[in-house]
Amino acid sequence: MESASSKPHATCIPLPAQGHINPMLKLAKLLHFKGFHITFVHTEFNQRRLLTSGGPDFLKGLPDFMFETISDGLPSTNPRGILDLPLLCQKLPVHGLSSFRKLITRLNSSSSGVPPVSCIVSDGVMSFTLEAAKEFGIPEIVLFTPSGCGMLGYLHFQELKDRGYFPLKDESCLTNGYLDTIIDWIPGMGAVRLKDFPTFIRTTNADDTMFNYNVQSVNNSMKAKGLILNTFDELEQEALDVIKTKFQKLYTIGPLSMLHQQLCGTKTTETNLQSNLWKEDTECLEWLDKKEAKSVVYVNYGSLIIMTPQQLSEFAWGLANSKYSFLWVIRPDLVNGGDEVISNEFKEEIMGRGMLAGWCPQEKVLAHTSIGGFLTHCGWNSTLESICEGVAVICWPFFAEQQMNCLYSCNEWGIGMEIDSDVRKQSVEEIVRELMDGDKGKLMRKRALMWKEKVEIAVKPGGSSYTNFENLVEQLKQERA
Ligand code: UDP
Repeated sequence: MESASSKPHATCIPLPAQGHINPMLKLAKLLHFKGFHITFVHTEFNQRRLLTSGGPDFLKGLPDFMFETISDGLPSTNPRGILDLPLLCQKLPVHGLSSFRKLITRLNSSSSGVPPVSCIVSDGVMSFTLEAAKEFGIPEIVLFTPSGCGMLGYLHFQELKDRGYFPLKDESCLTNGYLDTIIDWIPGMGAVRLKDFPTFIRTTNADDTMFNYNVQSVNNSMKAKGLILNTFDELEQEALDVIKTKFQKLYTIGPLSMLHQQLCGTKTTETNLQSNLWKEDTECLEWLDKKEAKSVVYVNYGSLIIMTPQQLSEFAWGLANSKYSFLWVIRPDLVNGGDEVISNEFKEEIMGRGMLAGWCPQEKVLAHTSIGGFLTHCGWNSTLESICEGVAVICWPFFAEQQMNCLYSCNEWGIGMEIDSDVRKQSVEEIVRELMDGDKGKLMRKRALMWKEKVEIAVKPGGSSYTNFENLVEQLKQERA
């Protein structure tokens, strides 16, 4: 039997955003289940948030699953929402790297009481960690949290630049139809529009922080020992075949939540390790219990989006006018400029059939029998969580690679319908009706259930994700030898 000090030790470090922390934590739990000692790295800012949302137990960890922190370099008053992503991307590589170096030095000191770090599992957009990995002679593997199709988009940012699509010539390109230009030369991807690419190309600024940060992250990550993606082969084989050629190794081991369930079940020691940055409202599950099967529309725009009061109002009255029941998650920081539309008049209008929450246990909600469809911003985790439960989607992509996830959801996987970015209450009402009771909605639900069956096969022994994960564990253990 392996003694504690001879255990492999994986240090897992996500980008400090909910959609990155969640998949990394699932991966860390899976590695822990396979016998790894885990150090999971949050930022100091997020540590404070986690302690507020979940209490001290949230970060208590286990003797061989510990939480540590690094600095992100931003003042504690900075809200770190979507608007400040560029600033975070400027500060993190500098402050995060020096903080991370100190952490590795401490973990590897003889007095640390933990086995020496044998591998670093880093978010691909925290690729500055590769510098530390090189200095300490520790192998590093990267997890990119987008879909394969989204990743393929990022991988072609440099070529879009070389071919003159980036930066945009002038602001008019954003509105004059230029973004409808067809791009049909990307291997592994059919003809797509420029506007289907991750939104960081939509700028006239050649020095745009987010564009360049993504190019650099992808380039750096190619030097890692391998790439892990939270997707499964059957879903997007063609895109994955191309990605595979650009990295030393590719491990498609998603959906991580399903793989975790398959391997560890629900009664393992890691079950209590949580990562919600907002306090979870579980009353909505009791509310769903009282609703009929497939009767409720679930609405959630993820953790980063900030919308205008006008957009909120169009969604609000579209949902109300559809006359369907809905569970609508409105994060406390979702609206920039006030949420007056959620007035007493509105609440009276939706009484009994509309439930509002600030943050919910999304995976449990999607698994609930009362859910009939999901109005989503197409974040990759949300899309995949919906696929896992066979729930069809209405797509309102907002930024990053959400547009690509929307395109694939609608055109490749047949599980989605898109709503115009310039959202209007009339179209919300119509599309919700179509989703819940129309022929297209029925077809999409059928397709979603078909994908759910494929997911279940992928994570079972002998399935693609199950096998790839076994191979990943093998590589991580060997790298250490
Ligand atoms: N999530 C949640 N409760 C909520 C909203 C979101 O648990 O009320 C989780 C969701 O299950 C997903 C993550 O937060 O795992 C959001 O990630 P996603 O990639 O969908 O979107 P992002 O927040 O990165 O835009």
